[in-house]
Amino acid sequence: ECVEKVMKVSEPYKLANRAFHPDDTIVDVDGVKVGGENLALIAGPCSVESKEQVIEIAKAAKAAGANILRGGAFKPRTSPYAFQGMGSSGLDILVAAKEATGLPICSELMDVQYLDEFNEKVDLIQIGARNMQNFDLLKKVGAGTKKPILLKRGLSATFEEWIMSAEYIMANGNPNVILCERGIRTFETYTRNTLDLQAIPVVKKLTHLPIVIDPSHAGGKWWLVEPMAKASVAGGADGLMIEV
Ligand code: PEP
Ligand code: MN
Repeated sequence: ECVEKVMKVSEPYKLANRAFHPDDTIVDVDGVKVGGENLALIAGPCSVESKEQVIEIAKAAKAAGANILRGGAFKPRTSPYAFQGMGSSGLDILVAAKEATGLPICSELMDVQYLDEFNEKVDLIQIGARNMQNFDLLKKVGAGTKKPILLKRGLSATFEEWIMSAEYIMANGNPNVILCERGIRTFETYTRNTLDLQAIPVVKKLTHLPIVIDPSHAGGKWWLVEPMAKASVAGGADGLMIEV
């Protein structure tokens, strides 16, 4: 008598499923709405290198229309000999850039030991492609914060694997997930990765979560960014992440 409706949902993801939440989810990134009719423009350097660098880029990005500033303080690098990022002092530089421009900040979290610090300083916590299936980290950003999470697609993750990773975060208590397509690994070597624009309609059909496209890490060539950014917006993306 008290049951209004019974639905059989065969997909393994429930909370992220469009069937349970027909309306688009709109995620609030310190006042910037992501999802629905809004367009998020996340821009900034790959890695934070100095205060001057970040403030200069932040001002230029804002003048060009960006509404969220990005910058990596903790960097996932293929080579242990490559620059690993400035760490906590890099986060402080991002905070200073937020004070100078008013832009909310997005940065990648790689290790849960820094979660409290990210909670305090960062507005949008990025989980990078390489950590998309770091299930312990996903559980911790689910249970340990209500800050929005930008979940990048793994280098060779299927849609279902990617959405299941969002489900991990949601099932552990944080519903504020934004998905980010950043190119997948294919046989092609001319471009850094292959940008899967089909992710936009597929994610929108299967889930109610916003999707942002990152053409920078996909193509790996500056001149691919503009046409792929335009194609993404035309295809219904909720936002772009562009390295500057
Ligand atoms: C980045 O955003 O700088 C980054 C390392 O991205 P990805 O995890 O998509 O490679
Ligand atoms: Mn990068």
